[in-house]
Amino acid sequence: MTQLIQRRALLSSAVAASGAVVLWGPRRWLEAAAVPARMTIVAAENFYGDIIGQIAGDHVSLTSIISDPNADPHEYESSTRDMAAISRARLVVISGLGYDGFMTKLVKATPNPQREILTVAELAGKKPGDNLHIWYDPRVMLTFARAVTDFLVRADPPNATSYRNWLHLFETSYKPFTAKVAEMRARFAGAPLGATEPIFGYMADALGMRILTSKEFQKAVEEGEDPPARAIAEMEDQLRRHEIKVLIYNVQTVSPVTERIRKDAARFSVPIVGVSETLPPGSSYQRWMIKQLDEVEQALSKTP
Ligand SMILES: [Zn+2]
Repeated sequence: MTQLIQRRALLSSAVAASGAVVLWGPRRWLEAAAVPARMTIVAAENFYGDIIGQIAGDHVSLTSIISDPNADPHEYESSTRDMAAISRARLVVISGLGYDGFMTKLVKATPNPQREILTVAELAGKKPGDNLHIWYDPRVMLTFARAVTDFLVRADPPNATSYRNWLHLFETSYKPFTAKVAEMRARFAGAPLGATEPIFGYMADALGMRILTSKEFQKAVEEGEDPPARAIAEMEDQLRRHEIKVLIYNVQTVSPVTERIRKDAARFSVPIVGVSETLPPGSSYQRWMIKQLDEVEQALSKTP
């Protein structure tokens, strides 16, 4: 019993410390004693956490649950640490559509009348059965940033001006990203792409590009299964005949089949662009998206 209590205490202090280290330099620790407890926000995925951080700065204590660049988020299994963070949060951000279904379960298991839940898929008007990777839709993240700002202004009125100013900065820094999408659309609309998994779907739509890989193939990889032999053969034919100009390769949902497709692409000199599900460490959402778009642009410029 005593051991269990100690473990819980250690766990919650570890959670609190991990939130603080991200946002506060050592100097701020000295000021912390005089400052009232900050409100805590939990984001299921680190790209939402990044945007919350850009708008809330160090006014909030922030935890992003899914952030490991070397793991497949579709296979994520929650921990007691996640549950502790969610139980204390003032706001919980969930992507939705079943991408992070464990979050809904943890919220139900830890009732808290003070807590608000923001489900981004609902905010963005997505429906069950839609592509799960809604953060690859440039419009969704702008809508999300505005909804988070509304929450912060309502929950913490004394800092409302800061939040509005930071939203403005965010919107300004978002423009090069949407400008890049428009510029590439003007230049490459209609370009045929291959994709090992549905991650790039909304972005391809925004770019006016076509993903030729069958939904069946992409869906199987997303679900951690092997695509049917027929779908694999079709993908290999498309690469061999250069019907696909660039292969979009999800680096977080790899399997022997995706590895085989990657090797085929290399063998047939089809350029490969690696894209990820989670925000890479040290980047921001906007820089991450622009970097990936730069790579797609370079790859398309190489192919006839
Ligand atoms: Zn995925």
